[in-house]
Amino acid sequence: MIQAVLKSKLKEDVCLQLNIPNHSFTYLCDCGQASDLTISDIINIQAIFISHTHIDHFFNFDTILRHQLQVNRKVTICGPKGIAKNVQSKILGYNWNILLSEEQAAEALHYEVREISENQIDVYMLHTPKWELEHKGILHEQYLYENEVFSVEYAILNHRTPCIAYCFTEHSKISIQKDLPFKQGEWIKALKQAFVEQNPEKEILIEGNLHKAQDLFVYLEEKKGSKIAFVMDHLASEENHQKIINLCKEADELYIEAYYLHEELELAEKNYHSTALLSGQVAQKAQVKKAIPIHFSRRHQTEEAIVKVIEEFERGFNENFNC
Ligand SMILES: [Zn+2]
Ligand SMILES: [Zn+2]
Repeated sequence: MIQAVLKSKLKEDVCLQLNIPNHSFTYLCDCGQASDLTISDIINIQAIFISHTHIDHFFNFDTILRHQLQVNRKVTICGPKGIAKNVQSKILGYNWNILLSEEQAAEALHYEVREISENQIDVYMLHTPKWELEHKGILHEQYLYENEVFSVEYAILNHRTPCIAYCFTEHSKISIQKDLPFKQGEWIKALKQAFVEQNPEKEILIEGNLHKAQDLFVYLEEKKGSKIAFVMDHLASEENHQKIINLCKEADELYIEAYYLHEELELAEKNYHSTALLSGQVAQKAQVKKAIPIHFSRRHQTEEAIVKVIEEFERGFNENFNC
């Protein structure tokens, strides 16, 4: 199960960490100030998902870079168009006159950047010590990012600049029923594979007889994995809301911006942000199980003010639209 842990305090800029039990790596959403992000958290990061590079979402990348220098492996960064240049510019803000052999340089920390635009995802690499941007081509995989535990989908939201919303879906777990008319064996693995590949015609050999996979699917049980969504700065427009609903449909947890109060709607629209009420409502329309408002304007930085924003969000989330 994917576990989301906020590494930023409520008054700080956003940083959300995703942990997976019995998995060596962690994953990070946005690089805002994060008092609770430890050095060991940073060393274990395998991929970073940046919504957009407004300073409040990206400035803490420097701290991450500082503590990742010794990890000697690839770290992936995903983000909107321009992110590759943003990452490179941050790195080039420092002096890199270190002497490494070619072999050492190849093994040292390097970044793969996946840059999302409307029609394609461009892949770039950045290596020490020159940190030149090498364009490696276009991503052809089905998902923006995938590993053995989860896959990541996204939506490009309008925040007067593209802001990427992410959804992390854990792979389903397929198990076989205990009560079977056949002896257990190698065929179970082949059947599970046919199920994952959605190949009902595949022939499965059991005790010398061939069976069609679709006739055996009844013996499988699928347990859906958890789904966690991260939706940052966006204008509360119909178009953005539809994209959020499609991406986050029935997520277990949705972390979403609640920058302004609804009485500040004019300001929210001017700055292409949402309000607590509208974010709560869109979370409800997406039928998420749990919605967590994060990222509040500096206008609402006292405990009392944040409580008011959260209450407004809850009102939006619990509203009954059918009434
Ligand atoms: Zn922003
Ligand atoms: Zn922001």
